[in-house]
Amino acid sequence: MRLLRRPYRNGLLLVIVVALILGLGAYWSRQRGFDELRRQERVELTRYVEYLQGQLEKYEFLPVVLARNKRLITLLQHPGDRKRIEALNRYLETINQITGTSDTYLMDREGLTIAASNWQSERPFVGRNFSYRPYFQEAMKGNLGRYFALGTTSNRRGYYFAYPVRSGDSILGAVVIKIDMAPFERSWAGSGTEFIVTDPDGIIFITTRRDWRFKSLRPLPAPVYSRIRESRRYVDAALEPLPVTASVDLDGGARLMRIEGPPAREYLVQGLEMPQAGWQVQVLTETGTIGRQVMRTLSFIAILLTALLLLGLFWNQRRRRLRERERFQRRAKKTLEARVREQTRDLTAANQRLTREIEEHRRTGAELHRTRDALIQSAKLAVIGQLSTGISHELNQPLAAIRTYAGNARALLARGQQQEVDDNLAHIGELTERMARISSQLKIFARKTSGDRTAVCLSTAIDDSLDLLASRIRETGTRIRRQTEQRGLEVLANRVQLEQVLVNLLGNALQAVESVSGRFIEIGSTVEDGMVKLEIRDSGPGIDLEILNRIFDPFFTTKAEGHGLGLGLSISQRIVEVMEGRLDAANHPDGGAVFTLHLRRVPPLTEE
Ligand code: ADP
Repeated sequence: MRLLRRPYRNGLLLVIVVALILGLGAYWSRQRGFDELRRQERVELTRYVEYLQGQLEKYEFLPVVLARNKRLITLLQHPGDRKRIEALNRYLETINQITGTSDTYLMDREGLTIAASNWQSERPFVGRNFSYRPYFQEAMKGNLGRYFALGTTSNRRGYYFAYPVRSGDSILGAVVIKIDMAPFERSWAGSGTEFIVTDPDGIIFITTRRDWRFKSLRPLPAPVYSRIRESRRYVDAALEPLPVTASVDLDGGARLMRIEGPPAREYLVQGLEMPQAGWQVQVLTETGTIGRQVMRTLSFIAILLTALLLLGLFWNQRRRRLRERERFQRRAKKTLEARVREQTRDLTAANQRLTREIEEHRRTGAELHRTRDALIQSAKLAVIGQLSTGISHELNQPLAAIRTYAGNARALLARGQQQEVDDNLAHIGELTERMARISSQLKIFARKTSGDRTAVCLSTAIDDSLDLLASRIRETGTRIRRQTEQRGLEVLANRVQLEQVLVNLLGNALQAVESVSGRFIEIGSTVEDGMVKLEIRDSGPGIDLEILNRIFDPFFTTKAEGHGLGLGLSISQRIVEVMEGRLDAANHPDGGAVFTLHLRRVPPLTEE
């Protein structure tokens, strides 16, 4: 087994199991078939024996009754009386006809038949001596004689009943009836079932199979054979043995027997004794039906096994497919998990990287913020630097005037001109006030701011910016054209930073107009969709188209060294964007540059 490969081993095992099942099935089916057959056979046999018994019993009493008949007794007492013989012959013929027996006859003490029902037939019994027949001998002993034999005269099988005819104590003769046995087999010949009746020597004399008649069940020993031949019981029959080729005893008294044909058949044989008649009755049933039944059972088992095998194969296939699918799913799941793990790892890494980058950006942002604030402040200080000349001029002028007024006042005081002194001192007061205002504006402008936004009055911011630039405006002889602005127009801005932007724009405008004559700067504002649009236009040369989109770049300047850093516009734009506003540059159709500042408007309380 171990040498065989697994599929072959399984195949071999399957074949063995199937063979075993089929073998057991065949055995079981055969057993059952035999049991059933035996049961049926037994029923048949009992019926047949009862029939035979009934037939015999029907006639048994007849010779007993006849033996008491006066006519018979009288004839035996007067044997030579012709008339009486003839009368009795007729009488016996009538009786024979009525009772349906084959022959009825009267024998004298010597065994000579003196009257018979067949007295008119070709071969009448009358005058024949049957003293050798055992039935006669038995009757002569005073008993009911019974015998069965082949009639020597009639050549017909008969069953004989003989009874002594008595007169007083002496036996005068015997009355005999003979029953024909042919009807005993006629109505019983059936399909596959045969009956045989044998004598104690085993000779078949009643049988539903004609060719078995007068055959012996077993070979007869020579003495028995000659005894039978001498008794002329079966006249000249050959008494050959039945061609039995196999005989097996089964339990329960049954026997299995094979009898050669034609046709050769196997029979299940069961028997019953009929002791009174001295018969052995046997029934033989062909076992072919059992073979067919076994074949049917085997076919059924084979179909069942095939179905089971197919079911098994189907189930196996299904199970294999399921297992495969499970394996595939497990593998897919594993792959998926691995991929998810990988991606999670990647994602985690990316996340960490992003967090780091965000943190860096945040730091950079904060740094930038600080840098930007510092830059704004530096730019502002630069503006102040640029303005310093103008501012110092702006302060020197009142100082010189104060000095003059003070000198004058002293002279006037010496002269005692009180009123004039007072006027001069008033002028001095005004001048110091103006100086104080300038210095306070400068202080506010230079202050470092937090950048917080509030509502800022636009015109005040413009005023303050113009004030810071006052000396340059004057020096250049530039006209400032201000359109009447909406009173109290407020924008959302940081005051200092807004001024820084305005000083930048106005300062650039002042620089631009320097190269032209007819210098002016126009400042105008409009309100649109909650935004204030402030336009600063100058009469300068305008901005070259090639550089228009670069002027907001940091460190972009067209000015000579010491006149500009190129930071003003870029910082202004930043400041305005933080205030949620916008700064644009363009050229005016009539010449000069226009810078437009868009700022969020803070609506007056009443409007709300
Ligand atoms: P700076 O004034 O230091 O040059 P800005 O950023 O303020 O730096 O200006 C950048 C450039 O934009 C200037 O050099 C100039 O060429 C141009 N510009 C700014 N304002 C005007 C203007 N009103 N008219 C013409 N050109 C201008």
